[in-house]
Amino acid sequence: MTASLEVSGLAFAYPDGHQALFGVDLRIERGERVALLGPNGAGKTTLVLHLNGVHRAGAGTVRVGGLEVTREHVQEIRRRVGIVFQDPDDQLFMPTVADDVAFGPANFGVTEPELSLRVKEALDAVGVAELADRSPMHLSGGQRRRAALATVLACDPEILVLDEPSTHLDPVARRELADVLLGLDRTMLMVTHDLPYALQLCPRSVVIDGGVVVADAATRDLLADADFLAAHRLEL
Ligand code: ATP
Repeated sequence: MTASLEVSGLAFAYPDGHQALFGVDLRIERGERVALLGPNGAGKTTLVLHLNGVHRAGAGTVRVGGLEVTREHVQEIRRRVGIVFQDPDDQLFMPTVADDVAFGPANFGVTEPELSLRVKEALDAVGVAELADRSPMHLSGGQRRRAALATVLACDPEILVLDEPSTHLDPVARRELADVLLGLDRTMLMVTHDLPYALQLCPRSVVIDGGVVVADAATRDLLADADFLAAHRLEL
C-alpha cells in the first residue's frame, strides 16, 4: 500500500557546505501518528523543509502519498503536506478566523459551496466554530493554536506536520489541543522536544541526531531508556 510519507536515503548539505542530513529513511503509513525527536541541531527542521519542497534533496527521495517531491509537483505537495507552524501568527493574518481558514483551500482552487463546508468542518474539528467571525488577534493562545490547525485541516492534507505544538501552552490549552489531535483521523508527524506530549499523542517515535536516524521505535520504549535519552540529549 502507498505510504503517507516515504523518505528514502535523504541527504542534504546547506550552501555553506554544512551537511545536515545523511541518508535519512522514514516511512509513515496512513493514519499513523509519529513523533520526530532529536536534540537542537539534529536536523528535524531541515527534514521538514524537504517534505514541502522548500529544500531539494541532495540525494534520495521524498514521496507524499506516492507523489515525489519535485519542482513540478510543488503546488500539490504543499497541499498534501499540512504544516502547522510553531507560531500561529504565521497562519493567522486575515480579518476573521473564518477568512484565515478559507484562505488555504481557496488558494488551492476550492470554490463555493465546498469552500464554506470545508471551513465549517475544520472549525468544528478543532472546537472553535463559535469564534469563526472573531479577529484571530482576539483569541487566546490555545484558541490561536487550534485555529492555525484548522487553516491546515481545511486543505485536506495527506499528512499533518506539527512543529512544536505544545510550546507556550498552559496545561488546560495543552490538554485541549491533545484531545483535538487525538480525535482527528489523520496521519501526523509531530516535531517536538516535549517528550510527555510525544508519549501522549504518538505511539511511535523517530529520533534523529547529527542528521541520521538513531532510533525508530515505540515511544514508550524509547522514553523508558534513560541511557538512550541521555546519549541524545533528550530530557523527560
Ligand atoms: P532545533 O531543535 O534547535 O530546531 P533542528 O533539529 O531542527 O534543531 P536544524 O535546524 O534542521 O536542526 O539544523 C540541522 C543542522 O543544520 C544544524 O547543525 C544547523 O546549525 C544547520 N543549519 C540549519 N540551517 C542552516 C543554514 N541555513 N545554513 C547552514 N547550516 C544550517
